[in-house]
Amino acid sequence: MKEGQTLCALAREGNLRILPEVRHDGIWIEQDGRRMLNMSSNDYLGLASDATLQDEFWQSLPERDRLLSASSSRLLTGNFDVHQELETLLAERFGRESALTFSSGYHLNTGILPAVADVHTLILADKLVHASLIDGIRLSSATCIRYRHQDYRQLQSLLEKHRTNFERMIIVTESVFSMDGDVAPLAALVELKKAFPNVMLYVDEAHAIGVRGKRGLGIAEEQGCLADIDFLCGTFGKALASVGAYVVCSRLMHDYLVNRMRTLIFTTALPPLNVAWTKFVFSRLDGWEDRRIRLASMAEKVRGAVRQADYPCPSESHIVPLVVGESEKTVLKAAEMQRKGFYVLPVRPPTVPAGTSRLRLSLTAALPEGEVERMGELIVNS
Ligand SMILES: *Cc1c(COP(=O)(O)O)cnc(C)c1O
Repeated sequence: MKEGQTLCALAREGNLRILPEVRHDGIWIEQDGRRMLNMSSNDYLGLASDATLQDEFWQSLPERDRLLSASSSRLLTGNFDVHQELETLLAERFGRESALTFSSGYHLNTGILPAVADVHTLILADKLVHASLIDGIRLSSATCIRYRHQDYRQLQSLLEKHRTNFERMIIVTESVFSMDGDVAPLAALVELKKAFPNVMLYVDEAHAIGVRGKRGLGIAEEQGCLADIDFLCGTFGKALASVGAYVVCSRLMHDYLVNRMRTLIFTTALPPLNVAWTKFVFSRLDGWEDRRIRLASMAEKVRGAVRQADYPCPSESHIVPLVVGESEKTVLKAAEMQRKGFYVLPVRPPTVPAGTSRLRLSLTAALPEGEVERMGELIVNS
């Protein structure tokens, strides 16, 4: 069967994937009897492993929100008070008219673009945007051009070239990029967008929400452009230690999406219990500046070690890739790190371009200082 041949080919290239069987114990992870520090989780602020915080949540949880299913779409009977309250809180914190929440970042990114982009739309997307955004673009009837990663001169010339060919152009980018850990200058994109009458900006802050900005509102807060991004998006599944995703946008866009966004309309709403947890965590976000500072300083150390070991270091964040190149070598290197007590995973094509297989170190504020140092030494001496 052709599926069997595909699997054999993947195995030969060192690109075969399996579902890892692991046990969790806070910041630790156990696999095949080996206990390792988890360096591959998206729990950037250490909230998912914070038992005290979770105790507080259970204590304060109203009876009303102790529901394990919404049993319906938001548009039918699945729209609970807590969904609305979370959206009001989001809009208020971001200082914007409206917010809308979804079942996941994947739903978010595969739902908005097909709803707003038609055949008269040109989508200009960064070459390295997440697979969920690519899928959203594919589901839309827009024309799409991918610009070279963070090459805004190319982006500008594309905008100029096509300004009269399309009714609307939408720039699509991440803020902290998931595989390189570099940061988009959003303020520059806002400038660029404002130079044209018909350009909208779509920013996915999946890896920045909670982590960046003084109050944890992401790179848009850090760069002072919260008010200028048409679709300011993020997920609750990473630093916020929950599940779901959001967009903050205009009231008009909110109302339009409620009418046209298929991944909102045709799916069961998140259970009130999970939404209550998201609301609890998000409402405390501005109080965790100490964690953000700690994470930034750890990341600085690890990036220093990567540079010292002469690896390329595109990262400007807590996501630090160790770009090895070949997939097989990368797999071996990951195994070596695991033997030394760090649960690091190889990232291979098609997640990253061929020839750039890497270890993706993703740091969390809960890591012990000494272990970060040991990790740095291991990178330098390997
Ligand atoms: C993780 C991620 C998503 C998907 O979010 P989920 O809530 O996990 O579905 C979307 N965009 C980017 C950039 C991501 O890294």
